[in-house]
Amino acid sequence: MIIVVKKNCEKSQYDSLVDWIKELGLDVHVSHGEMSTVLGLVGDTTKVDIDLISTLDIVEKVQKVSEPFKNANRKFHPNDTIVDISGRKIGGDYFQVIAGPCSVESEKQIVEVALAVKEAGATLLRGGAFKPRTSPYAFQGMGVKGLELLLKAKQETGLPIVTELMSEKHIDDFKDVDVIQIGARNMQNFDLLKQVGKTGKPILLKRGLANTLQELLMSAEYIMSEGATDVILCERGIRTFEPTTRNTLDLSAVPVLKNMTHLPIVIDPSHATGVAKLVEPMSLASVGAGADGLIIEVHNDPKKALCDGAQSLKPEQFKTVMDKVNLMLPIVNKKYI
Ligand code: PEP
Ligand code: MN
Repeated sequence: MIIVVKKNCEKSQYDSLVDWIKELGLDVHVSHGEMSTVLGLVGDTTKVDIDLISTLDIVEKVQKVSEPFKNANRKFHPNDTIVDISGRKIGGDYFQVIAGPCSVESEKQIVEVALAVKEAGATLLRGGAFKPRTSPYAFQGMGVKGLELLLKAKQETGLPIVTELMSEKHIDDFKDVDVIQIGARNMQNFDLLKQVGKTGKPILLKRGLANTLQELLMSAEYIMSEGATDVILCERGIRTFEPTTRNTLDLSAVPVLKNMTHLPIVIDPSHATGVAKLVEPMSLASVGAGADGLIIEVHNDPKKALCDGAQSLKPEQFKTVMDKVNLMLPIVNKKYI
C-alpha cells in the first residue's frame, strides 16, 4: 500500500501518521518527490483502514499495491534511482558503459584491456575473477588473484571495477570492488542475494536465463530488503527456441521495467547475442530503448580468450561502438558524469 502525502504538510501531522503506521507493525519506506512524499507500507497491510487514512488532511491519496515487490516498485518511489559509483552516476539522465574481458587472464591482459577501453570512452571496467562455467573442466577464473589484478588495473586507469561474486564465502575478498555482479545463474540464489544486500555496495543483478521480469524484481527485492538501495538491473538475453544467437535479447524489458521499477537498467549485448558483430547494432538499439548503460565484453586478442572470445570485441571495434553510442545519447537525453 502507498500513501501519497501532500507537500508542505505540517511536520507534526506527518510524524504522527508515520508513528501510527509503525505501531501497526509495518515498515515505512519514504520517498520525497518534487510534488509530494510517498510512504510505502511494507508488511501485512490488512490492518490498515484505507478509508480512515484517506480522510486525513495531509493525505492526497491511498493506493493498494498488488505487486509483491515493494522496495523496487516505482509506485513506492516514483523518481528514478540514480546509483553513484565513485562519482559515476547511472540512472535518470545518466548513462555509463562498463567494458572489459569476460575473464581476467593475466596482469598484462587486464591492464592492456583496461587502458584500451578507457581510451575508447568506457567509464567502468568489467572482468570476471570467479567464472560460472557450464563445464567443470573449463577455465574457472583466477579467483582471488584475479581480484588483485583488477585492482591493479583500477589503479592504472582510475576505472571503478565490476566483477562477479559467486559464493558467500568470498564476500570479504570483495571489499575493494566497486560494483558486485550477481550473474544470471545466481539470480535466484536467495542466500547470496541477502548477503550482498548487507554490503552496502552497488549490486549489478543479471536476469536469469529463464526468468520473468517480475522474478528479476523479486530478486532485487531480496537485496533491498537487507537495506541496500543501489541495485542496477541487467538484461542479458533469455533462452528461447532461436539457435542463431546465444540468447534472445529481450529489449522490451527496458521500457517494461522502467514502468515497473525506479532502478537503473543496463543491457549486456555480448551475452545476449554471443556474436561480436551483433554487439554494435544491439548496443545502439539498447540506447534507443532507453537503457541506462551497457556492459560489453572486450578482449585484446579475442581468438585467444579463455572465455567468450566469439562475442568479445577488439578494442578498435569497441571504439566504433562507443563513438556511435555517444552520437545517440543526446537524442535520448542521456549523459555521462
Ligand atoms: C559474465 O558477465 O561474464 C557472465 C557470466 O554473464 P551471465 O551471468 O549473464 O551469463
Ligand atoms: Mn562472458
